[in-house]
Amino acid sequence: MFCIECGTKLEANQKFCKNCGSPINITEERNEPLTTSNQKKESNAAKKNSGKKNDRLYALGFWFVNWLLITSKGGVFYSIGFTTPTFLILLASTGIPNKPTRRIVMFLLSAIFFIMTILKLQEVSY
Ligand SMILES: [Zn+2]
Repeated sequence: MFCIECGTKLEANQKFCKNCGSPINITEERNEPLTTSNQKKESNAAKKNSGKKNDRLYALGFWFVNWLLITSKGGVFYSIGFTTPTFLILLASTGIPNKPTRRIVMFLLSAIFFIMTILKLQEVSY
């Protein structure tokens, strides 16, 4: 059991918190759901972050594929110039907090950018 005011671990039958002096009148039943909901929040935040991390990896992978395709036709530097703006836009879209919205935006952007890459491949010839 922990002090509700400062979070210091309390020994059984303690009347006052030895850290902040708050009277101890909470039961373990009240304390536990608080801890559980905090843990839930933490794991949800971790999940959200890992989802965004995956989306960033996806953006990087998507950029790399397009970069390789354009490089095969237009050369390394031309390819960097062409694909970097699309990569930055895709990367920026990974910052959208709402996951379904983020996924839809990323999907649409990917589709548009990939079509642009395909068109560029047909246009540039060496
Ligand atoms: Zn305390």
